Amino acid sequence: MNKVFEVLHKYYGYNSFRKGQYEIINNILSKRDTFCILPTGGGKSICYQIPALLFNGVTIVISPLIALMKDQVDNLRANGIKAEYINSTQSLESIDNIMEMCRNGGVKLLYIAPERLENEFFKRKLRRLNISQLAIDEAHCVSMWGHDFRRSYGLINDFINSLSIRPVVTAFTATATEVVRKDVVKLLGLRKPYIYIGSFDRDNLSIRVHIEEDKLELVKDIIKDKENEAGIIYCATRKEVDGLYFYLKDLGYDVLKYHGGLKDEEKEYYQDEFLNENSNVMIATNAFGMGIDKSNVRYIVHFTMPKNIESYYQEIGRAGRDGAMSECHILFNRSDIRTLEYLIYTTVQIDRKELEIKKLQSMIDFCESKECLRSFILKYFGEENVREYCNNCSNCLNSDELRDYTIEAQKILSCVYRTRERYGVAVLIDVLRGMIGPKIINDKLNELTTYGIMKEYSSKFIRDLIKALIDFGYVNLKEGTYSMLQLNEKSYSILKSKQRVMLKLNYENEEKVINSDLFNKLRIWRRDTAIKEGVKPYIIFSDATLIELCNKLPKTEEELLQIRGMGEKKFNKYGDELLKRLKS
Ligand code: ADP
Repeated sequence: MNKVFEVLHKYYGYNSFRKGQYEIINNILSKRDTFCILPTGGGKSICYQIPALLFNGVTIVISPLIALMKDQVDNLRANGIKAEYINSTQSLESIDNIMEMCRNGGVKLLYIAPERLENEFFKRKLRRLNISQLAIDEAHCVSMWGHDFRRSYGLINDFINSLSIRPVVTAFTATATEVVRKDVVKLLGLRKPYIYIGSFDRDNLSIRVHIEEDKLELVKDIIKDKENEAGIIYCATRKEVDGLYFYLKDLGYDVLKYHGGLKDEEKEYYQDEFLNENSNVMIATNAFGMGIDKSNVRYIVHFTMPKNIESYYQEIGRAGRDGAMSECHILFNRSDIRTLEYLIYTTVQIDRKELEIKKLQSMIDFCESKECLRSFILKYFGEENVREYCNNCSNCLNSDELRDYTIEAQKILSCVYRTRERYGVAVLIDVLRGMIGPKIINDKLNELTTYGIMKEYSSKFIRDLIKALIDFGYVNLKEGTYSMLQLNEKSYSILKSKQRVMLKLNYENEEKVINSDLFNKLRIWRRDTAIKEGVKPYIIFSDATLIELCNKLPKTEEELLQIRGMGEKKFNKYGDELLKRLKS
């Protein structure tokens, strides 16, 4: 098997790449500088980690957030990958030990804070290493026009030029406007880079706007509905955070809070309670969330409308990083507008006021829009070829309109035909979306005419449509199989354009846990194991992996190894225990 897939399965337990990852990894492996723009949760880390594992020597990762660095390294180690980090909190002796390990080839990835490059002594040590790749995370920090400018990012280019052998240089970010993008290429000195700009669509986020409803009742409903699941409730001001916190606390809810007015030790305490899953509901201002890599935040509530679409998208980006379905609710009352306008007039510099008011107006337009909310956001960010409905936002879900899905149905059915009715729904979806995986390459499915003809659709959308086609008898499930499709007479009339497909698609989220008792038991096991090992629970397994375990109930080692997120190391470490727990 192709080495890249081998590594993906062995270390990460995944069977296919997300959009863009395969191309990005292959470019890096051919030693071409690469600049990759993917949304939060899009899977950037694997793009430099897999080349790091396949190259000789060490990959240096420059990463701006100390808290994230530890998480990343814990994550890699849990997958059996040798990784270390160095920041200002370590002693000289332990830094020397790590550098020694790097020299001896004992480390594949070394994470450092950019400020390390201010230290000549440290740079000299770095130069003695066999550096295969220099990966720069949050690359937008190099640009003054980005939103988190970091002066020491400016030292990276000189450092690269001081190396006797230039490693391949790779840069990653989730946010880049045209100016920032140009700055990154220039200021980091990328040479003829391969640039990948991914879609900003996060299809596992269900966006919902609630207009003029009782906010307190709604918040209580959401918390109850998502009992045991982690969520963040964003408020506009500290006062609002405190108010909501005490209101819910008095009613007996187990909630946490976070805002700039708390003492450092209080902030640390509340944050740790949240990350360690001792408590699941965090009420906060937007000060909370930067550098939080918790992958299983299942819902975000904006108790007050956010001040602009940029902040909104960044904040909801903290939900569902593991790819499992997550909900994002905005509670919108027109009286919020005054609060936000007041905040802009009192806190924003005079020359930016007009711009901020304009941005606020776009946010209001978004809340009041009747069109698909996802398409609204994607168009706002300048994306082209955006679908007009996503079937996963409050406007699409609440719409009673029958829509014409004939073209989509034809695409799906002709893919069933081209693949000779031999594959299950998961593979069909991958073929339609143009994904890369071992099965697709081995069976040459990427050479079919139907390969990639539904690139702009989410897998949830295609799955929902297939479900509806089966429900309405437009295609059959092959007898004796779980998900293979078989064309029938109606399918052929659709393919020949003799029949139209008019539907109202409003399936709720696909990744529901069938057995929630088992899910809760596994979650408790995960938390106990995390405490024993001194790591965060989501480092042990993501929610997406636990959900798949509950829904597929693997009985043998082979079946267990097929679960997404079950790499070799985790399989060896927890496999027996999990099979035992799944049996009982
Ligand atoms: P980013 O850095 O772009 O915000 P991450 O690299 O942290 O995103 O990835 C987000 C999540 O997606 C992680 O839990 C990661 O393990 C998972 N992931 C990445 N690539 C894949 C893949 N090919 N298949 C399944 N999950 C993946």
